[in-house]
Amino acid sequence: MQNEDQMRIHPFLFIFMAIAILATSVTQGGKADVKPDKKPEFALVIHGGAGTIKRKNLTPEREQAYRDKLQEVLLHGKKRLKKGASAVDVVESCIHLLEDSPLFNAGRGAVFTHDGKNELDASIMDGATLDAGAVAGVTTVRHPISAARAVMEQSPHVMMSGPGAETFARDQGLEMVDPEYFATERRKQQLQRAKQREAEQERKGEPGHGMLLSEDNDYKFGTVGVAVLDKAGNIAAGTSTGGMTNKRWGRIGDSPVIGAGTYANNATCAISCTGHGEYFIRYAVAHDISALMAYKGLSLQEAAEEVVMKKLKAAGGTGGVIGLDRQGNVTMTFNSAGMYRGYLRAGEKPVVKIFK
Ligand code: ASP
Repeated sequence: MQNEDQMRIHPFLFIFMAIAILATSVTQGGKADVKPDKKPEFALVIHGGAGTIKRKNLTPEREQAYRDKLQEVLLHGKKRLKKGASAVDVVESCIHLLEDSPLFNAGRGAVFTHDGKNELDASIMDGATLDAGAVAGVTTVRHPISAARAVMEQSPHVMMSGPGAETFARDQGLEMVDPEYFATERRKQQLQRAKQREAEQERKGEPGHGMLLSEDNDYKFGTVGVAVLDKAGNIAAGTSTGGMTNKRWGRIGDSPVIGAGTYANNATCAISCTGHGEYFIRYAVAHDISALMAYKGLSLQEAAEEVVMKKLKAAGGTGGVIGLDRQGNVTMTFNSAGMYRGYLRAGEKPVVKIFK
């Protein structure tokens, strides 16, 4: 039982705590806990890559171009979700728009490998069934996310790579293109810069392969990802990327690895990651967030922060995640300077952000 003195102190304590909580949530750069007032009919959250994305590195025109494209994708997803499209359908068609845009490191506009090619990875997962599909190292499939979906739905497998994946995609009637289709001048120049850095690193005896993280490495990241809650209450996630500039030896990152770059389970959450893939694989980031929710009862936001802001950060893994759960809670959590991102829930305006 409380005595009268305690009762008198409590309102002040309450106000103090409320201010403290508010201040914490406002100052936590890079973390977004977006709790809906009530469960929305549908929701979607997207990213276009995380990295050293700072205002000073983007011209106003370029910043606007990113904002416009992210908004377009959110509105496209909304239109489809309103009509009752499934989470998997919306993940795929939103990622088509991002893959077609040269702004992002996925599909057209993907980064170059050391050998001057564009090798693309993608994956998709259906939270209702735990079905999943992925492709790695494809060079002629216009929409790698559709190849991943075909692997999920039209084959007994989860992951295919290289020429085999391309033969499968062609047999499935997917649109095939000349490898040149993916190439852009901007990414060619980025490869040249990465190679120059690699040469400098070698001169200094630093084993970086031109891929070490540094202040001006924003061009490394630009992967795209989408997570969706549909009207039927199902969730799904997908990720598509060109990987890392100057990659070689058939390097494959986290994006096509189910449990690392992508994961979806109706019981927990749908997640898509972006960042330094080697860390995301070793820390099984997308599945770890789901596991923390399943086994420890953490909320989506708590789980995302535990993994991205604590585990990954302590290990030196740069990047972020977007995700949602069946209640329409959304997370956009990253430990880098910025992440192209946005979300939209039924009945609300789209939200698009880039910087912390
Ligand atoms: N995670 C991707 C990879 O390592 C790159 C990125 O997200 O930018 O391949």
